[in-house]
Amino acid sequence: MAKLYFYYASMNAGKSTTLLQADFNYRERGMRTLLFTAGVHDRGGKGVIDSRLGISATAIAFGGSTDLRQIAQDAHLEAPLACVLVDEAQFLSAAQVRQLAALCDEDDIPVLAYGLRTDFQGKLFAGSAELLALADSLVEIKSVCECGRKATMNLRVDAFGKAVRQGEQKQIGGNERYVALCRRHFMQRTGG
Ligand SMILES: [Zn+2]
Repeated sequence: MAKLYFYYASMNAGKSTTLLQADFNYRERGMRTLLFTAGVHDRGGKGVIDSRLGISATAIAFGGSTDLRQIAQDAHLEAPLACVLVDEAQFLSAAQVRQLAALCDEDDIPVLAYGLRTDFQGKLFAGSAELLALADSLVEIKSVCECGRKATMNLRVDAFGKAVRQGEQKQIGGNERYVALCRRHFMQRTGG
């Protein structure tokens, strides 16, 4: 039975690197994969998954109306897919996460989804909430706060390094805009 995996992390924990490594492992063994990433992700251009270590891969950019299951089913008909990998999975809608669950359960294609758990206000993203609820396997990709504790929160900062408390959830981009912190230091910087 295929499984739905959710690899969750804070910013800059190496999610994309981990995804690209998993993709490489499949393809090295001659298996076919399908990659998705969010259209709003602009670090490496639309439809590209790039990691800070310098490796990248092209991917299908999903938006709010993208039917990921249909696209994967069509690709699977052309040639069998061993796995579907989704980067920036926090931006999936709840309905799209359910498409991915159906892809596992009804089409028997494993799905590996990678995303942030919470936004800059410490709230769950819609896609992450649904993945936390539905995934067969939850895997935390760990990173470290400046104090040495595990970083679980994402502080948004302005050009002067000052905490930003209000704004759009989906504003995401260069590494300099976010600092991964432990909960204690996130609370201190944002005023709780
Ligand atoms: Zn800390």
